Amino acid sequence: MEDVRRIKQELVRYGKKIVEKGLVVGPGGNISARSGEVVYVSPTGYSLEELSEEDYVGVNLKTGEIVEGHLRPTCEVSMHLGCYLIREDIRAVVHIHPPLATGVVSAGVKLKPMFPDFVAFIGEVPVVDYVIPAGQEIRKAVTAVIKEHNAALLVNHGAVTVGANLKEAFYRALIIEDAARILLASLTAGKPRFLTDEEIEGIKNLEAEDYRKALLRGEML
Ligand SMILES: [Zn+2]
Repeated sequence: MEDVRRIKQELVRYGKKIVEKGLVVGPGGNISARSGEVVYVSPTGYSLEELSEEDYVGVNLKTGEIVEGHLRPTCEVSMHLGCYLIREDIRAVVHIHPPLATGVVSAGVKLKPMFPDFVAFIGEVPVVDYVIPAGQEIRKAVTAVIKEHNAALLVNHGAVTVGANLKEAFYRALIIEDAARILLASLTAGKPRFLTDEEIEGIKNLEAEDYRKALLRGEML
């Protein structure tokens, strides 16, 4: 039970942070975290900033059946469940509508590594073509890429990030929007310079980055 309480507190906290950072507006976006066979997910029709612990809905990981809570889960709940089922290491899923990253990807431009954190926390961001934002279609499209990546950009829709906890998934969401902001600044100022394959390898080999990733997952604490 301790775990469930902590998860709900984190959902409330990161839900508010996501709105504060402008990664969603109004009732857009949804987040979830897994505890055993139950996934706690934000309800449909509410802004993440107005939710409290009891508003998060507990659903069965495999069936999607509601097991806890008084509200209806987000209509994108199936996409969340698909992510947990495709990878055992995923404990949190963040789905946002970041304006800059969504704008960039919807113009047919891919986000590529321009700064070290992008490589250390994300690496590569596959692009998912537009599908109806509910039900099986989006679940299939998103899980196909989340299987091997920690983030995905959805054309004309938004982004999905995953993590070993909400902090990690949230940081990845922030980095995605930052990458779009940096790319746009660079395009405005001149010609963007992307990190070379060699530079990317160098970052991947940094011990300091391993340390940071372990810290984020809570392994060092
Ligand atoms: Zn959405």
